[in-house]
Amino acid sequence: MSTDTDTVVAKYLTVGGATVDVTDTRIEGRYGTAQRAVHAACSGAGCTSSFTGTGHGWDDTVPYAAAAFTDALRQLNEDAQAHAETCRAMPFGGTQ
Ligand SMILES: [Zn+2]
Repeated sequence: MSTDTDTVVAKYLTVGGATVDVTDTRIEGRYGTAQRAVHAACSGAGCTSSFTGTGHGWDDTVPYAAAAFTDALRQLNEDAQAHAETCRAMPFGGTQ
């Protein structure tokens, strides 16, 4: 049974009215270990931007991995914020 979970941990409003969601994904690892990855994606129609945190597959129980996760999440939030400040793609069904 899969125990994968996605949790949106930050959301940025773009100048086009879409959002950039930062997601913390917990994945059941190959040997039953908890692993994490971070992603950010823009919901703007036609916007192909997506960001991926560095260091996929952290074992959540290893202290240095937790620190790497925190660093990657902080960097990803900065990237998502920067994208939101400039992206003019509107969301699907956006206002006219
Ligand atoms: Zn965008």
